[in-house]
Amino acid sequence: MAMPTQATYVVIGAGIHGLSTAWHLAEDLEAKGLGSGADVLVLDKTSIGAGASGIACGVVRNNYFQPAMRELMAQCVEVWESDPKAFSYHPVGYMQISPEGMHEDVGTIYEQQRAIGYESVFIEGADDSAAYMRGIFDDWRAGGITSVLHEKKGGYANNTAALYGLAGKAEAKGVRIMTGVTVTGFKRDHSGGAVTAVETDKGAIACEQVVVAVGPWVAKFWDMLELPKTVNIKGPEGQILADVPMWRYWCLEEGVLGVDPDFQKTNSGGMPPVIHVDCDQPLISDVDGSVITEEMWGIYYKPDFHFNGVQGGAMPYKVERPVDEVAIDPYGPESPEFIVDDDFAHMWCSALAFCQKRFSGQIGKFRKEPSGGLGCFTPDSFPVFDRFCDNVYIIADSNHGYKMIGVGKLVAEELLNGKSRLLEPFRLSRYAEGKLHPTSHSPFPWS
Ligand SMILES: Cc1cc2nc3c(=O)[nH]c(=O)nc-3n(C[C@H](O)[C@H](O)[C@H](O)COP(=O)(O)OP(=O)(O)OC[C@H]3O[C@@H](n4cnc5c(N)ncnc54)[C@H](O)[C@@H]3O)c2cc1C
Repeated sequence: MAMPTQATYVVIGAGIHGLSTAWHLAEDLEAKGLGSGADVLVLDKTSIGAGASGIACGVVRNNYFQPAMRELMAQCVEVWESDPKAFSYHPVGYMQISPEGMHEDVGTIYEQQRAIGYESVFIEGADDSAAYMRGIFDDWRAGGITSVLHEKKGGYANNTAALYGLAGKAEAKGVRIMTGVTVTGFKRDHSGGAVTAVETDKGAIACEQVVVAVGPWVAKFWDMLELPKTVNIKGPEGQILADVPMWRYWCLEEGVLGVDPDFQKTNSGGMPPVIHVDCDQPLISDVDGSVITEEMWGIYYKPDFHFNGVQGGAMPYKVERPVDEVAIDPYGPESPEFIVDDDFAHMWCSALAFCQKRFSGQIGKFRKEPSGGLGCFTPDSFPVFDRFCDNVYIIADSNHGYKMIGVGKLVAEELLNGKSRLLEPFRLSRYAEGKLHPTSHSPFPWS
């Protein structure tokens, strides 16, 4: 394909957000008689799925303590459900299994799921929780659990397969997807405001609107657009936390236990929901009986034929270095630094064995291949979806956004001058205005 010199809409990044935006934009332009997919150009420096979307576990859940996240996730699940085959989506459901310290938080999630019509079951008390879990897996044995939230919707999608499904839908509407093109900067108008062209290593592309959906690379684009490196955050009592860095990296840790995926079937022989366990009991090594941690810990897992095993992860860790000193490239499994190590395997496999007897003694089957990757987090670890420099829409999310396939639909609506109530709580101005999302007792920074 010849390198274009002009496109009305340039979408940067061929991950879940860029591809979903491009597809929905093409559909909306056509439906409104304003143009077509031929007006939309997607650029990616490497390939479809070269970023976080291509390595994500692919879990799709509604379970968020923040009301705005839950409403948004319910909309995203509708998009997943609109074409499960094309998106390689498995609607097996999702379970949040929690200790007493999270009981109340999860109870409010359940109440609000009922309020928005999102089907779930809430089990309370240690005995009832254990009985419910043993009704699904007869070897369930996790201690310290006092509630189970079982979301009947959601589940997981096969990471790259879903992206190719999205790319196919976008291309069918006339969208051009060009890979191997690196965006290097932006040309701005005389006042230093709107972007007039996207500069790439293959030449400049004049444009009217830009969508930046570059996952963990967002801090680099933030700099290219000369946006502020810090924000002031207004706290609940009106106090100002000044000059908080806009970005920081966390490393997400995931891996695969190389057993037959059928190993994790339910008592009735079916495919189980995605399991997420948070726990406040000491985690004891399944290898040598040592104490791995006495802090609160959490894991998630699911049988997955795409990964050919039981795949999942644990809490991420914070990368303490300043953002500018963190090497994002090479990304994911190619990174020499941000991949899981033996400590992760030990912790995750021991936690699996803590939950279900069948996993005891299985650590030797942990796949010793590079996995995991960086996420670039905002100050509150929730996404920013907002317009900058007049005509640049930034979709800033790389830590829990694979499931957010519906965000592109809402962004497309906003690009065509609509306003999305669901995206409103995710503007950058929330920090200065003190309109913060509530925080939960989960050991994960994004729940
Ligand atoms: C290990 C891991 C597991 C995860 N698991 C889950 C999960 O189970 N569920 C969930 O909901 N979320 C999960 N996430 C988070 C989720 O993957 C991300 O939030 C989401 O994929 C971000 O999508 P994106 O489209 O914004 O970015 P990405 O998928 O990262 O895509 C960005 C693209 O931009 C391209 N790009 C970067 N710089 C340039 C440039 N200069 N020029 C051109 N192109 C460029 C890259 O090549 C890349 O393809 C996980 C993340 C990680 C790292």
